[in-house]
Amino acid sequence: MSGPDRASYDTVIIGGAVMGSSLAYWLSENPDHDGTVLVVEPDPTYEKSSTTLSEASIRHQFSEPVNIRLSMFATEFFADFHQNVQVDDEAPGLCFRETGYLFLATDDGMDVLRENHEVQRSCGAEVALLTPGELADRFPYLFVEDLAGASLGLRHEGTLDAYCLMRGFQQRARHNGVEYLTDRVVDLRLAGADDGGRRVTHVELASGDVVSCGRVVNCAGPRGRWIAEMAGLELPVEPRIRAAFVFACREALDGPTLPLTIDTTGVHVRTEPPHYLAGAPPLDDVEVDPDDFAVRHDQWEEVIWPALAHRIPAFERIGVTHSWAGHYAYNTLDHNAVVGPADAVPNFYFCNGFSGHGFQQSAGVGRGLSELITYGEYRTLDLAELGHDRIVRGEPFLEKAII
Ligand SMILES: Cc1cc2nc3c(=O)[nH]c(=O)nc-3n(C[C@H](O)[C@H](O)[C@H](O)COP(=O)(O)OP(=O)(O)OC[C@H]3O[C@@H](n4cnc5c(N)ncnc54)[C@H](O)[C@@H]3O)c2cc1C
Repeated sequence: MSGPDRASYDTVIIGGAVMGSSLAYWLSENPDHDGTVLVVEPDPTYEKSSTTLSEASIRHQFSEPVNIRLSMFATEFFADFHQNVQVDDEAPGLCFRETGYLFLATDDGMDVLRENHEVQRSCGAEVALLTPGELADRFPYLFVEDLAGASLGLRHEGTLDAYCLMRGFQQRARHNGVEYLTDRVVDLRLAGADDGGRRVTHVELASGDVVSCGRVVNCAGPRGRWIAEMAGLELPVEPRIRAAFVFACREALDGPTLPLTIDTTGVHVRTEPPHYLAGAPPLDDVEVDPDDFAVRHDQWEEVIWPALAHRIPAFERIGVTHSWAGHYAYNTLDHNAVVGPADAVPNFYFCNGFSGHGFQQSAGVGRGLSELITYGEYRTLDLAELGHDRIVRGEPFLEKAII
């Protein structure tokens, strides 16, 4: 393991997956930012990061405008991805498949679906509410008799390649001079008084190296709470297991491509050509050990398969081809991200708690944090509602459309 090039950096980013690398990208792209940036990441394969274990989909259907706008910005960024991240005209391909998201609802869920629809439309999202009849006409393979309606994303929603997004940010950030170090942050040193004047001064690494820093940014995903604790800060984010099951179906579905469909049971399913992919919260949705990646197969048998077979009768005859499990960084207060500085330690920045929507928020959150660091304010999209102050006050900022 070779050590850092310098003894001191303006910004140390803890965690180099999609969030850490997006921030590194945006800082290094901005001509107004002239600071040094170090990204510390223990695993350069990223095989256990949430990013590479993600289902890598993007939607505009959220309940909170800030989340809708973050995804809408991602759509813009992805459209020019090659131009944005290319180095010597080379860039990874994002392989976007525009399938739409389809949220299904019974009578109980229709009010929330309608409310969310109004908010989405007011933000400019291209979405449509469908009656059960319209749903059956459009997707004849769906069983709709127990449904009251659905919300369908008409444009810009679908699936991409999460690894390539992360690699794109990384290649350009490195090209711009950002340093990546293979090491693990094991502690933070702080100085100053407890009245808001405390500052992180040094980052201690597993190798024994210590680097001095102007600020740190916590991009440690499901392990983010432990980084916050190193600075004496509260972060109600825990690792929760989420498994993805890829399955083959004997029959082709008779109709247009299956959107990413969220059933009323909480089970979701989408295409994973030539197969399908499904998931759901586990039966016992609690904090897990961050090294626990065991797939809960009882979940498939007891919850997912029955729900799939009910909603799409052709899915009676399916078989799992493979499965994997990753972790949501799950914010137990309100399911929303925590982004921005800590009042008690102003040079400690949060970039945490993205549950199942961090992949699509990475471009917008990285851009926002880079503005906050460079100018001391958000200049494009205001992310203040996601700030840490609400955690300190214990006031939830609830996102209702969580998968
Ligand atoms: C099964 C599944 C499906 C998902 N589907 C979607 C989806 O469809 N759409 C979507 O938008 N999002 C989805 N997500 C969520 C998304 O993957 C995450 O929100 C996003 O990848 C978070 O990125 P991150 O960089 O914050 O965290 P991570 O990708 O987990 O990266 C954190 C990094 O920090 C590093 N780290 C940890 N501790 C330390 C330390 N002490 N020092 C230095 N580095 C450290 C880790 O090695 C890791 O590489 C899904 C997640 C899962 C698990």
